[in-house]
Amino acid sequence: MEEVLIIGGGFAGLAAGVALAKAGRRVRLLEQKPHLGGRARSFVDPQSGFLVDNGQHIIMGCYHAALRFLGEIGTLERIALQCRLRVHFLEPPGRLTTLECPNLPSPWHMLAGVLRSDSFGWREKREVLRLGRALASEEKSRDSLSALTVEEWLVRLGQSEKVRRGFWDLLAIAALNEDPRRAAAAVFARVLRLALFSSPADSRLGIPRFGLSDCYTGAAQAYITSRGGQVELNRSVAGFLIAEGVCRGVRLADGSEIEAASVVSAVPWHELARLLPGELLRSEPTFTNLLALRPAPIISINLWYDRAITELDFAALRGTTVQWLFNRSRIPSAGENCISLVLSGAHALTSRSKEELLTVALGDLGELLPAAREAKLLHSLVIKERFATFSPCVGVDELRPPARSPVRGLYLAGDWTATRLPATIEGAVASGYAAAQALLKRD
Ligand SMILES: Cc1cc2nc3c(=O)[nH]c(=O)nc-3n(C[C@H](O)[C@H](O)[C@H](O)COP(=O)(O)OP(=O)(O)OC[C@H]3O[C@@H](n4cnc5c(N)ncnc54)[C@H](O)[C@@H]3O)c2cc1C
Repeated sequence: MEEVLIIGGGFAGLAAGVALAKAGRRVRLLEQKPHLGGRARSFVDPQSGFLVDNGQHIIMGCYHAALRFLGEIGTLERIALQCRLRVHFLEPPGRLTTLECPNLPSPWHMLAGVLRSDSFGWREKREVLRLGRALASEEKSRDSLSALTVEEWLVRLGQSEKVRRGFWDLLAIAALNEDPRRAAAAVFARVLRLALFSSPADSRLGIPRFGLSDCYTGAAQAYITSRGGQVELNRSVAGFLIAEGVCRGVRLADGSEIEAASVVSAVPWHELARLLPGELLRSEPTFTNLLALRPAPIISINLWYDRAITELDFAALRGTTVQWLFNRSRIPSAGENCISLVLSGAHALTSRSKEELLTVALGDLGELLPAAREAKLLHSLVIKERFATFSPCVGVDELRPPARSPVRGLYLAGDWTATRLPATIEGAVASGYAAAQALLKRD
């Protein structure tokens, strides 16, 4: 049986590996780092000895491919998925409100949730429901959306500054990792349809019960190796062996070559551009488009206190620089009284020093939670992921390639490929499955 080479051991590469191994193919996966997981992983903070994620990840009920993947490798119970959507909003000076959606058929679950919520005034409730109605008329919005930013679209649909800043922007930045003034309305509308207006089960949020890596990397590796495959760490690919439009393997950083009739590239777009022959990158539009994709950063601020400062599992934050709060105290080895704060689409903040970011975060937290002012901060860790995701700005969908590349034998996966989703775990897994399917179909 011929071997399939997979380059990259993040969600996309592992999902492709699992799908191909399931289909009976012999998989050889090469990962450049000494660990799997890519942009969704956990590690031990050398200073404190606590287990930390490279950034808090959230999953949704509408992540059908990702949930199927976790089910296939046997780790689905490692995600704490809500029974129904429930989001707390915290704003200075410590005001707590809630949006909770009952188990009614869609869209009634959202409508009832918004109407009952103490998070919105009557005017904002009317505005949110107006947007829900506009989303339902899919055809109309699809045509008019392609050139609009999220902000332009929301204004056009009569969403006031208050409901934009206090609700839609929080969702958009979390889902798209981009400022609503740059992010594409078309991508956001798609996310809203899938996440909020599809079914109550799809609207649920899920938080890992363990460190991120423990939720999938080991189990996916075991799945592949138990079916005759190999997962090799510290194996850095330096280039694809491509001649006359056909890929026949890869060249490694140590100069050695591995031949294979089928190669799945599951590396980020900027890395793929580095691995392709320069001539092909310049001449083939599918690949030239890679050069126009831009990164968007995420900053995570992890704080360990001497006592509990909140009982909430997580909350969206209004009126502060930090956007979301996650309570990681229940995660084994993460350390007691650990809070993780998230700043997505943080272009303007990555140049700030970690000390400055910590000061901002502590100021925000003190305004949101009185208990944080009395508690003693024992340890902190600020993580800047500058290349967290691609930036889903207007026009981005036209730049994203499908799984089947113009080079025979080379298949493309990764959260940045043409999944129609923003860069998410769901997009990464769906892309891995799509690459596996394209490969199996062609062979
Ligand atoms: C801080 C942060 C928070 C996030 N929050 C969320 C969230 O809440 N919900 C959500 O759904 N998504 C979230 N995401 C996005 C999610 O993590 C990504 O979409 C997903 O992990 C991407 O997976 P991937 O396999 O496409 O790419 P990667 O995870 O980047 O995997 C690519 C792999 O390829 C390897 N590689 C690269 N070059 C080579 C080479 N030359 N040779 C061999 N191997 C190579 C890399 O080392 C890496 O392991 C977040 C991302 C970040 C950074």
